[in-house]
Amino acid sequence: MERTEVLIVGAGPAGTSTALHLVRLDAAWADRMVVLDRATFPRPKLCGGGLTFFGSRFLDQLGIEVEDAFDAKSIRLIHGRRQFAFQGDPAVRVIRRYEFDARLVDLCRERGIDVRENVAVRGVTVGSHAVSVDTPGTAIEAEVVVGADGSGGRVARSIGMDRGATWGRTLEVLTPAGPTPDPEIQDRMLTVDFTPLSRHGLRGYVWHFPCLVDGSLHVSRGVYECRLWPRRPKADLVGILEEALADRGMCLADHRQQSHPILQWHPRRPTAAPRVLLVGDAAGADALTGEGISFALAGGAAAAESIHRARFTGDVSFADHAVRVERWPTLHQRSTRRAVARWAYRLENRLVLDLLWRITGAAVRDLETARRVWRGLDRLRALTGQR
Ligand SMILES: Cc1cc2nc3c(=O)[nH]c(=O)nc-3n(C[C@H](O)[C@H](O)[C@H](O)COP(=O)(O)OP(=O)(O)OC[C@H]3O[C@@H](n4cnc5c(N)ncnc54)[C@H](O)[C@@H]3O)c2cc1C
Repeated sequence: MERTEVLIVGAGPAGTSTALHLVRLDAAWADRMVVLDRATFPRPKLCGGGLTFFGSRFLDQLGIEVEDAFDAKSIRLIHGRRQFAFQGDPAVRVIRRYEFDARLVDLCRERGIDVRENVAVRGVTVGSHAVSVDTPGTAIEAEVVVGADGSGGRVARSIGMDRGATWGRTLEVLTPAGPTPDPEIQDRMLTVDFTPLSRHGLRGYVWHFPCLVDGSLHVSRGVYECRLWPRRPKADLVGILEEALADRGMCLADHRQQSHPILQWHPRRPTAAPRVLLVGDAAGADALTGEGISFALAGGAAAAESIHRARFTGDVSFADHAVRVERWPTLHQRSTRRAVARWAYRLENRLVLDLLWRITGAAVRDLETARRVWRGLDRLRALTGQR
C-alpha cells in the first residue's frame, strides 16, 4: 500500500488551489502530497467561465497569469425593460475551463507536485490513524484527504457528508459569434437576465457570457435555477433558454445542450470531519448565482492553511475549520448570498419585483456616480501632489 501525508481528490480549481497554496506555505509540501483526478487534462468542464475580482485575487496571489480570457468591461443586470450595469476594468474575466484547468495542473507540476491523471477514486474509509483511499490500481493511505471532486463528489458521498444537500440546475449552449454581433461582444459586457423570474417563476436567471474558444469569439448562454426549495416544481429550463435564444433570432435545437447539477452551499452542511476536508463544489457553490470558481480557489487557500496548521499541532480533527473558513471575506460571501437567494427568489409579484428593481438600479447608478467623483478627486489630488 502506498502512503502519503495529504491526498487531494480532484485537480479542478479547488484541488489545484489547495495544492498550490500548500506549496506556497512551505515548498516541502510538494513531496508530501499526491493529487488524483479521474480525467486527463485538458478535459471538458461545463461552466460559464465568469471569474470575478475575488477569484482573480487568488490567482495573483499564486502568480498565475490567465491567458485567452475575455475581459468584460461591465455586467448588465436585466429585469423586463429595466436594466443597470456594474462597470469595472475588467468587471469580470471570462475564461474557458478547458485551458484554464489544464494550466493549473501544469503549474502544480512545475512546482514539483505529483499530479496523477486518469485515476478515479472509488471510495474512502476514515480510520483513527489514516484514511484509506480506494483506487483501481492500488489503495493509498493518507493522513488527510481533501475532497475537491466537485458536485456530488465521491469523497463526501463515501462518508455521508453529502446528506441534506440541495442541487441547483443548469442548461448551457455555446454559440459562435454570428454575422450580427451580440451586444455582449460589441460592448464587452456580460448579461444576466432575471426576466424569467416574474415571467416563468424561475428562481434564477439566463446568462449571455462572451468568451474565446481557440481564439475565436463565442457566447456561452445558459439558464441557472436555484433549488433551495427542492419540493417546489422544477422550472422548464429548455423552454426558458429556447425563448431567450429566439429573442435573439437563434434556435436552441441548432446547438448542443449540456447540463450539470450544482451542489448548493449550506452553512450547516459539514465541510470538515476528522482527517477530511471538502473544498470547492464538493463543499458547495453559491446558491444565488451558481458561481463557484472564486469559492473553489479561496476554499483551497483556506484548506491549505488548516492542513498546514494541523501538521504543527498534530490535531487532524479540523474541528475549527468551518469557523475559520467563515472568517475569510470571500468565503463568507456564501452565507450572505444564500440569505439574499432565500429572500429574493421567493418574491413572485411582478409589481414588487419591479419596484425593487427600480430602487436597486437607482442605488447602483448613485454608487457608480460616487465612484466616478471619487476617481476624479483622486486624479486631482495626484495632479496637485496631495496625498
Ligand atoms: C453550467 C455551469 C455554469 C457555470 N458557470 C460558472 C461561472 O460562470 N462562474 C463561476 O465562478 N462558476 C460557474 N460554475 C460553477 C463552477 O463550474 C464550479 O464552481 C467549479 O468548477 C468548482 O471547481 P471544483 O474544483 O470544486 O470542481 P470541478 O471543477 O468540478 O473539479 C472536480 C474535479 O474532480 C475530478 N473528480 C471527480 N470525481 C473524481 C473521482 N472519483 N476521482 C478522481 N477525480 C475525480 C473531476 O474530474 C474534476 O476534474 C458553473 C457551473 C455550471 C454547471
